[in-house]
Amino acid sequence: MAASSGNRFDVLDPATGEAVASVADGGEADAIAAVDAAAAAGPAWAATPPRVRGEVLRKAFELMTERAAALAELISRENGKALTDAKGEVTYAAEFFRWFAEEAVRIDGNLTSAPGGTNRILVTRQPVGVCVLVTPWNFPAAMATRKIGPALAAGCTVVLKPASDTPLTALAMAAILAEAGVPEGVVNVLPSRSSGKVVSAMLRDARVRKLSFTGSTEVGRILLAQAAENVVNTSMELGGNAPFLVFADADLDAAIEGAMLAKMRNGGEACTAANRFFVEAAVADEFSRRLAQRMSALVVGPGTDEKTQVGPLVNEDTVAKVDALVKGALEAGASAVTGGTRPDGPGFYYPPTVLTGVGADAAILREEIFGPVAPIVTFTGEEEAVRLANDTEYGLVAYLYTGDLARGLRVSEKIEAGMVGLNRGLVSDPAAPFGGVKQSGIGREGGHEGLLEYLESKYIAVNW
Ligand code: NAP
Repeated sequence: MAASSGNRFDVLDPATGEAVASVADGGEADAIAAVDAAAAAGPAWAATPPRVRGEVLRKAFELMTERAAALAELISRENGKALTDAKGEVTYAAEFFRWFAEEAVRIDGNLTSAPGGTNRILVTRQPVGVCVLVTPWNFPAAMATRKIGPALAAGCTVVLKPASDTPLTALAMAAILAEAGVPEGVVNVLPSRSSGKVVSAMLRDARVRKLSFTGSTEVGRILLAQAAENVVNTSMELGGNAPFLVFADADLDAAIEGAMLAKMRNGGEACTAANRFFVEAAVADEFSRRLAQRMSALVVGPGTDEKTQVGPLVNEDTVAKVDALVKGALEAGASAVTGGTRPDGPGFYYPPTVLTGVGADAAILREEIFGPVAPIVTFTGEEEAVRLANDTEYGLVAYLYTGDLARGLRVSEKIEAGMVGLNRGLVSDPAAPFGGVKQSGIGREGGHEGLLEYLESKYIAVNW
């Protein structure tokens, strides 16, 4: 659909920096029109039987699965990620529709007696209403389905504002949902280059009752302040700075496999990416050498090339940030065991890099790298490991490898993070509650908790 201004913007291929498509550039009037549509469609969708809502989501899962190859190609084209990563994302993204198709019929309430025996306490759950969903570019399909799935299951209608680097996948998802039977107005997609303005306009509209945001902590803070004006219900999936702890008693083969997954899924462009490697001194040399061997063997190239294991980063700003963080660490005395230099030529490429001798106060350990770089720091003993892991304002996920399960559970409890991968380099699962503590966010996505984010509890005091 055209923007009311008639404006359009280009979508670039990160492998070349060239435009591959253009989309309508939504403005404030289009944002309010999208809220109009969502508000108008709300009552009928909320009154649609949960089984029917679930079956529509199940159909969307099936359509996504049938079209996985084409969707992966599209993701890779606009995001740059390797096709294997893009295929993995389509599977992961579709699973949110399947999971929430099943959750739609599990919206429960409860009934108790008031302690004084005066009445019954009846609690029912109702959809929160019109939701604004704001998503990042790093998982253009999965971050959308992780929000649309539970919103639709709960009976809410939505306006999705995708990242301006990756609007094509969001538009493809909207087409799939329409084909699956989602009525007009229930899902509205608003690509825009003026994200700040359009999201603010929607948050000022009193009909909007929910904001679910995935993106940086910096933007999350701005939106929390804006949401406060109309006391809008918020779910915030923000930045991460995941520690990856390797104790000397760990199975090193498993730790290397886990490290490759935790670091290199999506080329390192994941909020869950291992950002800081803390390795116990006795195994640090061996771990660094083996990780560098594996990282340097990865094939870097255009994401859409079948042989590629690591595609380009999404845009110039991202690759420039990674380059600056690595340069800063090297100037402060770190060594690059592999990688460490941005190549010349077109595209937003950065090589898989392993750094050792990184100082504890280096910026690369404080900020999200969002690229294929693994800085390694050594530690001695459990207490130091926990202190280093918790020395961050973020608290999304942590990984730890140890052969001692009691230590694994003890350290997992002490780590300030919403999720822990214990002898495992991947935590994301539509059936599990995903989310962070500290400045990594508020609320959970996936699991049954993900559905509750889109429901209000209504309490009815009743006598009979
Ligand atoms: P971002 O810059 O915060 O952008 C996220 C979304 O917010 C995009 O749609 C963006 O639109 C929009 N936006 C930017 N400024 C805005 C403003 N002032 N008002 C309203 N919306 C605004 O983040 P990103 O660079 O796309 O994504 C990377 C970040 O997302 C990382 O920090 C990563 O850790 C985080 N992330 C977190 C999770 C999680 O589940 N915790 C998952 C994935 C990613 P434009 O594209 O137009 O700027």
